[in-house]
Order: sequence, then structure tokens, then C-alpha cells
Amino acid sequence: MGIEKTGAIVLNTRDWKETSKIVTFYTSSRGKITAVAKGARRKTSPFRGCLEVFTHLSLVYYDRRDRDIQIVSQCSEEESFQDIREDLVKTCYAAYFVQLVDEMVGKDEPGEELFRLLLAVLYRLRDNGDFDIVARFLELHLLRVLGYSPLLKSCVVCQKSAASSRGELEFSASSGGVICRGCAAGVSDSMNISGGVYSALVHLQKVDIGKLSRLKLSRAISEELKTAMHYYLGYLLGKRLKSQEFLEEVIKDSVQCSVVSGR
Ligand SMILES: [Zn+2]
Repeated sequence: MGIEKTGAIVLNTRDWKETSKIVTFYTSSRGKITAVAKGARRKTSPFRGCLEVFTHLSLVYYDRRDRDIQIVSQCSEEESFQDIREDLVKTCYAAYFVQLVDEMVGKDEPGEELFRLLLAVLYRLRDNGDFDIVARFLELHLLRVLGYSPLLKSCVVCQKSAASSRGELEFSASSGGVICRGCAAGVSDSMNISGGVYSALVHLQKVDIGKLSRLKLSRAISEELKTAMHYYLGYLLGKRLKSQEFLEEVIKDSVQCSVVSGR
């Protein structure tokens, strides 16, 4: 059993026994780990306040390689994202981000790159902007790191260049990429994607997160892009995430409130 010190983000937490918690972290050194924080629910616990979902912290734990559950030794908060927690819509995006990573990533996946990606999108929520674009950025780059990037260069069936088919493309989750119209008839799960969505996908796969705020998408393209991504993620996960459904409800309500209040 070794002592490991690492940066970590809380992905989820649940009560365990009388006073403890079992917490899943995304760590920069070991990727996803689960650890028990003994006595974390006691009022005097040094862990109190540190183990909320999507908190960024510095974690010290006993690493028992042969066990599924590690033991938290110490933790100190780096960033609680209190400003995000005070905003319902931002909180829902953050909850979706951490649940997506928790559900998509297994044990022994690369630590550092995904840790930085998740931390970067959480920090982006502190600004104002189009958080749907930030969500699509996370989804696409998570898929890239895990080896599931949608294939966009050419039709996955006949290899015809996608650029030459622009505006005439479909996307198939089971094939993992775009399909030209000629081949789409033979693929049962393909859906139409517009030229605008195709361009957004290509751009989001390449763009640096620092330049994300320059990307502007029309509401129609943004909605179509979201539908395509959630269709693909739903196929890979075999389900829709609760945090994703809740986020959709909250966005719908906040848009209605803006319309009613004239904002
Ligand atoms: Zn084809």
C-alpha cells in the first residue's frame, strides 16, 4: 500500500455506513478511483465541505492496487466552484460534465489529459457564454481520448471524401462516423446531419478551449448538434444520463422565464 498525492475532481459521492462516504474521484495521476472517506459526515471531520460533487481538490490517499476501493488520507480544497453552485443552470452543466466522465471512463484510463479537460470545462462555466458549445467540446474530446472520436473525414463505408459530400451526409452511431447518401440506405441507424453540424463537429475536434468563445452557432445548428452527439453517446452508453435529462428541463424552464420576463 503506497501513499499517493494527486490533483482530483469529485465525480460522485454517496453515504456509507454511519458516518463515512464513498467518493469517486477523477485524479490527474491515476484517472478514475473510488475511495472511502472515513468519518466524512461527522461535524468535526477534516473532510467536511471538501467532498462535494465537482470540487477540485488536492488529495492524499492510500493506494491499494489490488483493491477497488482506496482510503482517503487527507484532502484540501483547491476550488469549490461556489460561483457555479449559486447558479442553477451552471450547476446542472457541471453535474452533467462530471456524470458524463464518470459513466464513460472506466478504470485504468489515462489520468492527466482527461483531468485537465474536465477541469478546463468546469472553469469555463465561471464565465458567461454558450455552455452548450462547452458541453459539445467536452463530449468530443472525451470521445477522442477514449478512442471513440466520430470519423468525419470520409464515408465510413465507401471512403468517399466527406468534403465532397457536404450537405449530403448522414451519421451512424453503430458505424462511428459519417456516411454518404449513397451508402446510407444500407445502414439502419443513420441520421441526417446538415453541413452546419458537420462543420461544427470538425471545428470542435480541432479547436483549443481558449478559443472556444469565438465559435458562434445558430440555435438550430446547436440543437441539431446536441441531438447528434446525444444520439452517439446514448448508443455508446446504452442509456441517457439523468443529469443530461435534468439539464434539458432546467434549460427549457430558464428559456421560458427569459421570454416571460422579456430578458
Ligand atoms: Zn459512402
